[in-house]
Amino acid sequence: MANIGYIQVNRYCNNQCHFCSNPSNWNNISLERGIELIDDFIKREYKWIIFTWWEPTLSPDLAKWIKYANDIWMENRMISNGMMCSDYNFSKKLADAWLKLVHFSVYSCHEKIHDFLTDTPGSWKKLMMSITNALKLWVRVQINTVINHYNENHLDKTVIFLTKHFPQIKHFVWNNLDPLMMRKTKTALSTLPNYDEASKSLLKAMAYLDSTNRTFRVERFPLCYMQWYERASTETRKIVKDEERMVHFLDERETIRQQWKHWEHDKLEACKNCDLNSICSGIYEYDNYYNYVNVYPRQLSKSDKEELIKKIKGIV
Ligand code: SF4
Repeated sequence: MANIGYIQVNRYCNNQCHFCSNPSNWNNISLERGIELIDDFIKREYKWIIFTWWEPTLSPDLAKWIKYANDIWMENRMISNGMMCSDYNFSKKLADAWLKLVHFSVYSCHEKIHDFLTDTPGSWKKLMMSITNALKLWVRVQINTVINHYNENHLDKTVIFLTKHFPQIKHFVWNNLDPLMMRKTKTALSTLPNYDEASKSLLKAMAYLDSTNRTFRVERFPLCYMQWYERASTETRKIVKDEERMVHFLDERETIRQQWKHWEHDKLEACKNCDLNSICSGIYEYDNYYNYVNVYPRQLSKSDKEELIKKIKGIV
Protein backbone atom coordinates (compact mmCIF):
# COMPACT_ATOMS: atom_id res chain seq x y z
CA MET A 1 0.00 0.00 0.00
CA ALA A 2 1.30 3.45 -0.94
CA ASN A 3 -0.11 5.58 1.86
CA ILE A 4 0.33 9.30 1.50
CA GLY A 5 0.24 11.97 4.20
CA TYR A 6 -0.73 15.57 3.48
CA ILE A 7 0.50 18.46 5.62
CA GLN A 8 -1.23 21.81 5.30
CA VAL A 9 1.62 24.12 6.16
CA ASN A 10 -0.33 27.35 5.88
CA ARG A 11 -3.69 28.70 4.83
CA TYR A 12 -2.96 31.78 2.80
CA CYS A 13 -2.15 32.25 -0.82
CA ASN A 14 -0.81 34.66 -3.41
CA ASN A 15 -3.49 33.59 -5.93
CA GLN A 16 -7.23 34.04 -5.40
CA CYS A 17 -8.71 31.11 -7.33
CA HIS A 18 -12.48 31.45 -7.55
CA PHE A 19 -13.01 27.76 -6.74
CA CYS A 20 -10.35 27.42 -4.03
CA SER A 21 -11.35 24.50 -1.78
CA ASN A 22 -9.20 25.70 1.13
CA PRO A 23 -9.78 29.45 1.40
CA SER A 24 -7.44 31.57 3.53
CA ASN A 25 -7.86 31.63 7.29
CA TRP A 26 -4.30 32.91 7.90
CA ASN A 27 -3.25 29.88 9.95
CA ASN A 28 0.16 28.30 9.61
CA ILE A 29 2.27 25.75 11.42
CA SER A 30 5.57 26.26 13.24
CA LEU A 31 8.83 24.61 12.20
CA GLU A 32 8.58 22.28 15.21
CA ARG A 33 4.97 21.28 14.47
CA GLY A 34 5.94 20.43 10.87
CA ILE A 35 8.74 18.17 12.10
CA GLU A 36 6.38 16.53 14.59
CA LEU A 37 3.93 15.74 11.75
CA ILE A 38 6.68 14.33 9.52
CA ASP A 39 7.83 12.08 12.39
CA ASP A 40 4.24 10.95 12.91
CA PHE A 41 3.96 9.84 9.27
CA ILE A 42 7.26 7.97 9.57
CA LYS A 43 5.90 6.08 12.60
CA ARG A 44 2.80 5.16 10.64
CA GLU A 45 5.03 3.86 7.82
CA TYR A 46 3.57 6.24 5.26
CA LYS A 47 5.49 6.30 1.98
CA TRP A 48 5.09 9.94 0.93
CA ILE A 49 4.49 13.36 2.44
CA ILE A 50 2.90 16.15 0.43
CA PHE A 51 3.37 19.76 1.55
CA THR A 52 0.32 21.64 0.43
CA TRP A 53 -2.59 24.09 0.58
CA TRP A 54 -2.09 26.97 0.03
CA GLU A 55 0.54 28.02 -0.65
CA PRO A 56 3.43 25.98 0.80
CA THR A 57 6.08 28.17 -0.87
CA LEU A 58 4.91 31.09 1.31
CA SER A 59 6.08 29.25 4.42
CA PRO A 60 9.58 30.36 5.52
CA ASP A 61 10.26 26.83 6.82
CA LEU A 62 9.44 24.84 3.68
CA ALA A 63 13.07 24.18 2.65
CA LYS A 64 13.86 23.05 6.24
CA TRP A 65 11.00 20.52 6.25
CA ILE A 66 12.00 19.21 2.83
CA LYS A 67 15.59 18.77 4.00
CA TYR A 68 14.48 17.13 7.26
CA ALA A 69 12.21 14.68 5.41
CA ASN A 70 15.02 13.80 3.00
CA ASP A 71 17.55 13.34 5.80
CA ILE A 72 15.30 10.67 7.34
CA TRP A 73 14.54 9.08 3.94
CA MET A 74 10.93 10.17 3.68
CA GLU A 75 9.85 10.80 0.09
CA ASN A 76 8.28 14.22 -0.22
CA ARG A 77 6.78 16.58 -2.73
CA MET A 78 4.78 19.77 -2.82
CA ILE A 79 1.71 21.10 -4.62
CA SER A 80 2.19 24.69 -5.70
CA ASN A 81 0.56 27.44 -7.74
CA GLY A 82 3.95 28.28 -9.28
CA MET A 83 4.07 31.93 -8.26
CA MET A 84 7.15 31.95 -6.01
CA CYS A 85 9.16 29.41 -8.01
CA SER A 86 9.24 31.78 -10.97
CA ASP A 87 12.23 33.28 -9.14
CA TYR A 88 15.15 31.02 -10.09
CA ASN A 89 16.99 31.57 -6.80
CA PHE A 90 13.90 30.61 -4.81
CA SER A 91 13.52 27.41 -6.83
CA LYS A 92 17.22 26.67 -6.35
CA LYS A 93 16.83 26.90 -2.59
CA LEU A 94 14.16 24.18 -2.68
CA ALA A 95 16.14 22.07 -5.15
CA ASP A 96 19.22 22.37 -2.90
CA ALA A 97 17.10 21.01 -0.02
CA TRP A 98 16.42 18.05 -2.36
CA LEU A 99 12.88 18.74 -3.41
CA LYS A 100 12.36 15.90 -5.83
CA LEU A 101 8.87 16.42 -7.14
CA VAL A 102 6.49 19.32 -7.53
CA HIS A 103 2.88 19.33 -8.75
CA PHE A 104 2.15 22.66 -10.39
CA SER A 105 -1.50 23.68 -10.76
CA VAL A 106 -2.15 24.64 -14.38
CA TYR A 107 -5.77 25.35 -15.24
CA SER A 108 -5.49 26.01 -18.95
CA CYS A 109 -3.14 26.39 -21.89
CA HIS A 110 -4.81 29.76 -22.44
CA GLU A 111 -3.16 32.49 -20.39
CA LYS A 112 -6.35 34.57 -20.14
CA ILE A 113 -8.43 31.67 -18.80
CA HIS A 114 -5.81 30.67 -16.21
CA ASP A 115 -5.41 34.26 -15.01
CA PHE A 116 -9.18 34.67 -14.83
CA LEU A 117 -9.56 31.49 -12.75
CA THR A 118 -6.74 32.45 -10.36
CA ASP A 119 -8.06 36.01 -10.28
CA THR A 120 -4.39 37.03 -10.43
CA PRO A 121 -3.10 38.75 -13.57
CA GLY A 122 0.33 37.47 -14.61
CA SER A 123 -0.06 34.13 -12.77
CA TRP A 124 0.11 32.01 -15.96
CA LYS A 125 3.41 33.59 -17.09
CA LYS A 126 4.94 33.04 -13.65
CA LEU A 127 3.73 29.45 -13.64
CA MET A 128 5.38 28.72 -16.99
CA MET A 129 8.61 30.23 -15.66
CA SER A 130 8.34 28.06 -12.52
CA ILE A 131 8.01 24.91 -14.61
CA THR A 132 11.03 25.98 -16.66
CA ASN A 133 13.09 26.62 -13.50
CA ALA A 134 12.15 23.35 -11.82
CA LEU A 135 13.05 21.28 -14.88
CA LYS A 136 16.34 23.17 -15.27
CA LEU A 137 17.16 22.26 -11.66
CA TRP A 138 16.29 18.57 -12.23
CA VAL A 139 13.19 18.69 -10.04
CA ARG A 140 10.54 16.38 -11.46
CA VAL A 141 7.33 18.19 -12.47
CA GLN A 142 3.78 16.85 -12.61
CA ILE A 143 0.67 18.84 -13.48
CA ASN A 144 -2.57 19.19 -11.51
CA THR A 145 -5.63 20.63 -13.23
CA VAL A 146 -9.00 21.43 -11.66
CA ILE A 147 -11.73 20.44 -14.12
CA ASN A 148 -14.16 23.35 -14.34
CA HIS A 149 -16.55 25.07 -16.72
CA TYR A 150 -13.88 27.33 -18.22
CA ASN A 151 -11.45 24.56 -19.23
CA GLU A 152 -13.88 21.68 -19.76
CA ASN A 153 -13.71 21.95 -23.56
CA HIS A 154 -9.92 21.96 -23.90
CA LEU A 155 -8.39 19.61 -21.33
CA ASP A 156 -6.76 17.78 -24.26
CA LYS A 157 -5.31 20.97 -25.75
CA THR A 158 -3.80 21.88 -22.40
CA VAL A 159 -1.90 18.59 -22.05
CA ILE A 160 -0.76 18.75 -25.67
CA PHE A 161 0.50 22.31 -25.14
CA LEU A 162 2.34 21.38 -21.94
CA THR A 163 3.97 18.23 -23.29
CA LYS A 164 5.07 20.10 -26.41
CA HIS A 165 6.77 22.84 -24.40
CA PHE A 166 7.92 20.62 -21.52
CA PRO A 167 8.38 17.10 -22.93
CA GLN A 168 9.95 15.95 -19.63
CA ILE A 169 6.52 16.06 -17.92
CA LYS A 170 5.22 12.51 -17.71
CA HIS A 171 2.31 12.56 -15.28
CA PHE A 172 -0.95 14.56 -15.11
CA VAL A 173 -3.67 14.73 -12.46
CA TRP A 174 -7.17 16.09 -12.96
CA ASN A 175 -9.27 16.93 -9.92
CA ASN A 176 -12.89 17.57 -10.60
CA LEU A 177 -13.94 20.82 -8.94
CA ASP A 178 -14.66 20.50 -5.21
CA PRO A 179 -17.47 22.99 -4.47
CA LEU A 180 -17.79 22.21 -0.77
CA MET A 181 -15.63 25.01 0.65
CA MET A 182 -15.28 27.30 -2.33
CA ARG A 183 -16.58 30.85 -2.28
CA LYS A 184 -20.28 31.08 -3.10
CA THR A 185 -20.04 34.09 -5.39
CA LYS A 186 -21.76 34.13 -8.77
CA THR A 187 -18.39 33.80 -10.52
CA ALA A 188 -17.27 30.92 -8.31
CA LEU A 189 -20.54 29.05 -8.90
CA SER A 190 -20.19 29.63 -12.65
CA THR A 191 -17.07 27.42 -12.61
CA LEU A 192 -19.05 24.21 -11.91
CA PRO A 193 -18.35 21.91 -14.88
CA ASN A 194 -20.65 20.25 -17.36
CA TYR A 195 -19.66 16.57 -16.96
CA ASP A 196 -20.66 15.55 -20.50
CA GLU A 197 -18.56 18.34 -22.04
CA ALA A 198 -15.60 17.73 -19.74
CA SER A 199 -15.72 14.01 -20.42
CA LYS A 200 -15.23 14.56 -24.16
CA SER A 201 -12.00 16.52 -23.84
CA LEU A 202 -10.83 14.43 -20.87
CA LEU A 203 -11.12 11.22 -22.90
CA LYS A 204 -9.11 12.82 -25.72
CA ALA A 205 -6.49 14.03 -23.24
CA MET A 206 -6.17 10.57 -21.67
CA ALA A 207 -5.90 8.91 -25.09
CA TYR A 208 -3.14 11.34 -26.08
CA LEU A 209 -1.19 10.79 -22.85
CA ASP A 210 -1.62 7.03 -23.13
CA SER A 211 -0.31 7.07 -26.70
CA THR A 212 2.78 9.02 -25.60
CA ASN A 213 3.50 6.65 -22.68
CA ARG A 214 2.51 9.13 -20.03
CA THR A 215 0.45 8.41 -16.94
CA PHE A 216 -2.53 10.18 -15.37
CA ARG A 217 -5.08 10.11 -12.57
CA VAL A 218 -8.58 11.57 -12.26
CA GLU A 219 -10.25 12.45 -8.97
CA ARG A 220 -13.95 12.99 -8.17
CA PHE A 221 -15.15 11.91 -11.61
CA PRO A 222 -17.59 8.96 -11.91
CA LEU A 223 -16.42 5.94 -13.90
CA CYS A 224 -19.22 6.25 -16.47
CA TYR A 225 -17.56 9.47 -17.68
CA MET A 226 -14.15 7.87 -18.19
CA GLN A 227 -14.84 4.74 -20.19
CA TRP A 228 -11.67 2.87 -21.22
CA TYR A 229 -9.64 4.67 -18.56
CA GLU A 230 -11.44 3.58 -15.39
CA ARG A 231 -8.09 2.38 -14.05
CA ALA A 232 -7.04 6.05 -13.72
CA SER A 233 -9.73 6.94 -11.16
CA THR A 234 -8.01 7.89 -7.91
CA GLU A 235 -10.92 6.73 -5.77
CA THR A 236 -11.35 3.42 -7.62
CA ARG A 237 -7.64 2.72 -7.18
CA LYS A 238 -7.90 3.44 -3.46
CA ILE A 239 -11.00 1.21 -3.14
CA VAL A 240 -9.37 -1.67 -5.02
CA LYS A 241 -5.99 -1.33 -3.30
CA ASP A 242 -7.46 -0.52 0.11
CA GLU A 243 -5.22 2.53 0.54
CA GLU A 244 -5.57 5.31 3.06
CA ARG A 245 -4.65 8.98 3.26
CA MET A 246 -4.11 11.14 6.28
CA VAL A 247 -4.52 14.90 6.06
CA HIS A 248 -3.48 17.40 8.72
CA PHE A 249 -5.74 20.40 8.03
CA LEU A 250 -5.33 23.89 9.40
CA ASP A 251 -9.00 24.38 10.26
CA GLU A 252 -11.72 22.74 12.34
CA ARG A 253 -11.21 19.44 10.49
CA GLU A 254 -7.73 19.14 12.10
CA THR A 255 -6.65 15.58 11.27
CA ILE A 256 -8.65 13.29 9.00
CA ARG A 257 -7.72 9.71 8.27
CA GLN A 258 -9.39 8.82 4.98
CA GLN A 259 -10.20 5.18 4.44
CA TRP A 260 -12.67 3.17 2.36
CA LYS A 261 -15.84 5.08 3.28
CA HIS A 262 -14.25 8.41 2.25
CA TRP A 263 -13.76 7.22 -1.30
CA GLU A 264 -17.45 6.56 -1.88
CA HIS A 265 -19.54 9.63 -2.68
CA ASP A 266 -23.21 9.77 -3.73
CA LYS A 267 -24.86 7.07 -5.78
CA LEU A 268 -28.09 7.40 -7.77
CA GLU A 269 -30.86 4.85 -8.10
CA ALA A 270 -29.53 3.95 -11.57
CA CYS A 271 -26.15 3.03 -10.09
CA LYS A 272 -27.77 -0.13 -8.68
CA ASN A 273 -27.89 -1.45 -12.23
CA CYS A 274 -24.26 -0.66 -12.97
CA ASP A 275 -21.62 -3.39 -12.99
CA LEU A 276 -19.00 -0.91 -11.79
CA ASN A 277 -21.00 0.07 -8.72
CA SER A 278 -18.78 -1.73 -6.21
CA ILE A 279 -15.60 0.03 -7.37
CA CYS A 280 -16.98 3.42 -8.44
CA SER A 281 -17.08 6.37 -6.07
CA GLY A 282 -20.20 7.84 -7.70
CA ILE A 283 -20.84 11.58 -7.76
CA TYR A 284 -19.20 13.85 -5.24
CA GLU A 285 -21.63 16.29 -3.56
CA TYR A 286 -24.57 15.27 -5.74
CA ASP A 287 -27.31 16.60 -3.44
CA ASN A 288 -25.90 20.05 -2.79
CA TYR A 289 -24.08 20.98 -6.00
CA TYR A 290 -23.98 18.37 -8.74
CA ASN A 291 -27.64 17.35 -8.86
CA TYR A 292 -27.75 18.24 -12.59
CA VAL A 293 -25.38 15.38 -13.42
CA ASN A 294 -26.66 12.20 -15.13
CA VAL A 295 -25.19 8.75 -14.71
CA TYR A 296 -24.87 6.06 -17.36
CA PRO A 297 -24.89 2.57 -15.82
CA ARG A 298 -22.23 0.36 -17.35
CA GLN A 299 -22.59 -3.29 -18.32
CA LEU A 300 -19.38 -5.29 -18.03
CA SER A 301 -18.75 -9.01 -18.15
CA LYS A 302 -17.35 -10.59 -14.98
CA SER A 303 -14.05 -11.25 -16.75
CA ASP A 304 -13.74 -7.62 -17.97
CA LYS A 305 -14.29 -6.38 -14.44
CA GLU A 306 -11.70 -8.83 -13.08
CA GLU A 307 -9.27 -7.69 -15.76
CA LEU A 308 -9.77 -4.05 -14.70
CA ILE A 309 -9.14 -4.90 -11.04
CA LYS A 310 -5.98 -6.82 -11.97
CA LYS A 311 -4.75 -3.84 -14.02
CA ILE A 312 -5.24 -1.53 -11.06
CA LYS A 313 -3.44 -3.93 -8.75
CA GLY A 314 -0.61 -4.12 -11.28
CA ILE A 315 -1.06 -7.85 -11.82
CA VAL A 316 -1.34 -7.54 -15.63
S1 SF4 B 1 -23.66 4.60 -13.11
FE1 SF4 B 1 -23.11 5.10 -11.00
S2 SF4 B 1 -21.86 3.37 -10.29
FE2 SF4 B 1 -21.94 3.27 -12.53
S3 SF4 B 1 -20.13 4.32 -13.25
FE3 SF4 B 1 -21.80 5.85 -13.19
S4 SF4 B 1 -21.69 6.80 -11.18
FE4 SF4 B 1 -20.48 4.91 -11.12
